[in-house]
Amino acid sequence: MRVAVLSDIHSNLIALDAVLAAAGEVDAIWHLGDIVGYGPDPNGVVARLAERGATGVRGNHDAAAVGGPEIEWFNPDARRAMEWTRRQLDDASRSWLGDLPERRRDGDLELVHGSPRHPLWEYVTSGDIALANLAELEAPTGLHGHTHVPVGWIANDGGVDLVRASDRSSITLDSRRALLNPGSVGQPRDGDARSSFLILDTELGEVTWRRTAYDVEGVQRAMRSAGLPGALVSRLSSGT
Ligand code: ZN
Repeated sequence: MRVAVLSDIHSNLIALDAVLAAAGEVDAIWHLGDIVGYGPDPNGVVARLAERGATGVRGNHDAAAVGGPEIEWFNPDARRAMEWTRRQLDDASRSWLGDLPERRRDGDLELVHGSPRHPLWEYVTSGDIALANLAELEAPTGLHGHTHVPVGWIANDGGVDLVRASDRSSITLDSRRALLNPGSVGQPRDGDARSSFLILDTELGEVTWRRTAYDVEGVQRAMRSAGLPGALVSRLSSGT
């Protein structure tokens, strides 16, 4: 099965459509949460994922969007964008987001937003954190997002190897446990403004990270006319 794995779309429909076009024909679309928040088109993104039959998990922004207390931990810009998002969401989007589970398992793969031990909030940003979470995985391979940075953490003889992924970086899964982060569709933070995602071939165990450009300026215009915070608008140009 050829699967497109998408994370941190953040209400960026223009980026999502560019990624779906670049991914080509796939058997399934899996998402790792933070469908909404920050960007200008929350209902459009939910509708597109629903129409494509995407399955996945909830992120901290999705939990906040449907009324969760998570909003209390947001920084001022994220909070302002979330208050705007809450006002925009229609009933269909709210219900679709509200139904997302915190974890999902599909065969040898486990899906979470942040980390296996703290699905909504933990950022896997170091070898020590990755190692602790590789031990918490219930399946051999974990798929997670939240940091907006495309990387792979591969267990290796009691330690962990870090794969810093760029466009077309590829690995083959073997008996070692792995945590794979596709990076962010809608707000990349690794210094590359292009959307990031990964393609997974579940039979071959092949994982390929991909980047694709989208109309950043078009999204920025929509954000400005929605009155979303300027820092959230400008960071899309630099991918930071
Ligand atoms: Zn996010």
